[in-house]
Amino acid sequence: MQHFPIFVALAGRRVVVSGGGEAALAKLRLLLKTEARVTVFAADPHPDLAALAEAGKLTLHRRAMQPGDALCAVLFYAADEDAAQDARTTALARADGALTNIVDNLAQSQFITPAIVDRDPVTVAIGTEGAAPVLARAIKADLEARLPATLGRLARIGKAFRKMAEALPMGRARRDFWRDYYFRTGPRMADAPDSTVEGALDGLLAEHLDRQSRKGHVAFVGAGPGDPELLTLKARRALDEADVVIYDRLVGKGVLELARREAIMVNAGKEGFGPSMPQAQITATIIEHARAGAQVVRLKGGDATIFGRLDEETEAVSDAGIDWHVVPGITAASAAAAAVGQSLTSRGRNDETRFVTGHDMKGFADRDWASLAQPGEVAAVYMGKRAARFIQGRLLMHGAAPDTPVSVIENASRADQRVLACTLADLPQRLDTARLSGPAVLLLGLAPHPALHGTTAPALPQDTHAPAPKPIMELVQ
Ligand code: SAH
Repeated sequence: MQHFPIFVALAGRRVVVSGGGEAALAKLRLLLKTEARVTVFAADPHPDLAALAEAGKLTLHRRAMQPGDALCAVLFYAADEDAAQDARTTALARADGALTNIVDNLAQSQFITPAIVDRDPVTVAIGTEGAAPVLARAIKADLEARLPATLGRLARIGKAFRKMAEALPMGRARRDFWRDYYFRTGPRMADAPDSTVEGALDGLLAEHLDRQSRKGHVAFVGAGPGDPELLTLKARRALDEADVVIYDRLVGKGVLELARREAIMVNAGKEGFGPSMPQAQITATIIEHARAGAQVVRLKGGDATIFGRLDEETEAVSDAGIDWHVVPGITAASAAAAAVGQSLTSRGRNDETRFVTGHDMKGFADRDWASLAQPGEVAAVYMGKRAARFIQGRLLMHGAAPDTPVSVIENASRADQRVLACTLADLPQRLDTARLSGPAVLLLGLAPHPALHGTTAPALPQDTHAPAPKPIMELVQ
């Protein structure tokens, strides 16, 4: 961060501007929104500037700046529209101790004025350190559209109500109240007089005081396969409102970053085969937080209902008398199928598809292997990397063709996604050579769609920590 954003209290303080043309006027339009004491030095001022001086909005000196003119100024703007003159006046202002800005000269400026979304007293400042003014303008336009024009007024009325709202305990209860006001009740009363809005605030406070006895709740939320854009809107909302988020190892970093900043984050899982929080402890943690009244999000990779031990947790939470619900997510098999551009079912080929776990395959009955070995069968094997050799042996033994396609999709949907196009015959060797370290799904019976060869995975701007995207197909034959 080259520029540190701050908001400067300007009421009653001195700001000096040198220059009397358009550049100076543009700065003055902003500065005059504040309560600063503005002084302008301009030998030949624009008539609008003279008019502002006559109206008592600023002090105008019709001469060039001299040493000492910027004494006691907090900020100084050089808007002379002439490089030599700007350099001269800036040097004078610096000598007088002001922080200086030269209009349209980022390199020589000690501070810059950001793009501003003004909903006074709510102000959003956007800066790109001069790197991308177009981007700053786009963000500004986006925020302008999103923040109701009435927000400033609501904030002013709300400010006077802050003391009253202290009747609610600090933390979630008070936050919920204000959220309701600013984003639900408030905007609906955009055209109402202040007194009506104040009355509504009273009513809202009574409603929230009533709601005080609200109980804790657990949302079992599917976080999807890793790409934050594959989160459902419901999952996003749950994360946004969570007091506590208890997450598994496979939940992507980009997803976790979407949780409410104040939320307590509990990591419940480490390596698949290594140490992780024991199930009983996870369940106990969920119950403990919910009993304390928290909105708990139990975040699981993919879909919570698939190989996620969901039922153990819902049973325990039910037994504890706590309310809960499930938010579905995109499971790894869906992301893997998307990665290879293939359908998990296909008319005339397979009218069923199976989600199986490599962990339990040793207990697979012979009839299961026999049916899986049929031509055209499709199965998604979760946690299947270690079981690959075993699966290969059983399927071949039950008559599967050695050239049956098997796609291995590692880190599906993530920036570091890899696809290995194998056959049943070479699956174990290919896995040995590839040394996959991330989670992977095996799609038995599916080869990557030929049309996807050479396509590259789209970059995931939200996961900047991930390595650069690799080609979607890594077809090492
Ligand atoms: N509930 C999860 C599955 C949990 S079991 C879901 O619905 O996806 C963990 C296994 O899921 C991993 O061993 C791996 O086989 C698979 N998996 C999870 N995320 C994955 C991803 N992004 N890419 C490939 N496989 C993944």
